[in-house]
Amino acid sequence: MAKTLDLVPVTRWGFFTLPRPMVIAGPCSAETEQQVMETAAGLRDEGIHVFRAGIWKPRTHPGSFEGVGTEGLKWLRKVKNEYGLKVCTEVASEKHVYECIKFGVDMVWVGARTTANPFLMQEIADALKDTDIPVLVKNPVNPDIDLWIGALERLNRAGVRKLGVIHRGFSTSEKIGYRNAPGWQIAVELRTRYPQLPFFADPSHMGGSRQFLKELSQRSLDLGFEGLMIESHCNPDCALSDAKQQLLPKDLGEMLASLIVREKDSPDEDYKSGIHQLRAQIDILDENLLFMLKSRKDISRKIGQYKKEHNIAIVQASRWDEVLAAVVEKGKEYGLSEKFVTAVFNAIHEESVQAQNEVLEAGQEE
Ligand code: PEP
Ligand code: MN
Repeated sequence: MAKTLDLVPVTRWGFFTLPRPMVIAGPCSAETEQQVMETAAGLRDEGIHVFRAGIWKPRTHPGSFEGVGTEGLKWLRKVKNEYGLKVCTEVASEKHVYECIKFGVDMVWVGARTTANPFLMQEIADALKDTDIPVLVKNPVNPDIDLWIGALERLNRAGVRKLGVIHRGFSTSEKIGYRNAPGWQIAVELRTRYPQLPFFADPSHMGGSRQFLKELSQRSLDLGFEGLMIESHCNPDCALSDAKQQLLPKDLGEMLASLIVREKDSPDEDYKSGIHQLRAQIDILDENLLFMLKSRKDISRKIGQYKKEHNIAIVQASRWDEVLAAVVEKGKEYGLSEKFVTAVFNAIHEESVQAQNEVLEAGQEE
């Protein structure tokens, strides 16, 4: 049973206005004072709530642009003072936290690589003790919900009660089009466990390309996420990091305006929003099911190849009887009827036999 988190509702942080989405936007990295100020001015006109900019950048390869460091915090302070925007940046060590406190950064986020490291999380949590700074925790790079929860627990135990999460997708070795696999079901699971926790989606790092921003943003809103964190740059193509995924402030404004937000005003609207979120979850599960079926079929082909090499017949009835009995039994535990499980698995088996046959025939034609 998950421990509860002691939280201050996001509506009382004084950072965001309703209706949804709550929007955090800004460049991947602060590069120059001029770039920061120009981007922030554009975003202020688009009505975003919080300005983001990476000051210390976790880069895969040494020698890539690793951020401007503390100097950039002066520019964030200027954005705050001149444009009245709240400002936030990523922290990955206690030193970063202390620097942020010194320069009046309003909110911080923990990056995906840091969430996966309990030592760093503890260090950051300790450094944040006795502050009132809200913290958003990105999911760890790997799809491990417990690491994500552990990071939230460490912060909460240190007294951080203004907590939220950012879903930025997970590293994957599969080629999927997106930069990081959305893995929505993990976010949905976390949301179910902690309904009071505000959820932000980061379609920029999930998609890795401007073309995916809208569909990923819409999906997260359909799942009921409270907000979005999106990268925006006054000259995206010349950005020193993540150039392909950043949007001009005005294009971001247009994209945000095109999103359909189903709010929960009247009882009727409530119903519509609820059913929409459930359907969005079903759509994700269906996508996952299809992917699993495809993966299963890939293995069937390999089995077919293996049997062929060893001159073994495709169907062994006894093996299939065992598989069927096992899944029927398991299905009962899950509340699925024998009739349903048998029908589904017989269909899957048929497809598998077909796949193995194709492998065999392919060989005969050669
Ligand atoms: C970022 O937000 O710029 C960033 C580095 O994100 P992530 O930790 O999701 O890779
Ligand atoms: Mn980035």
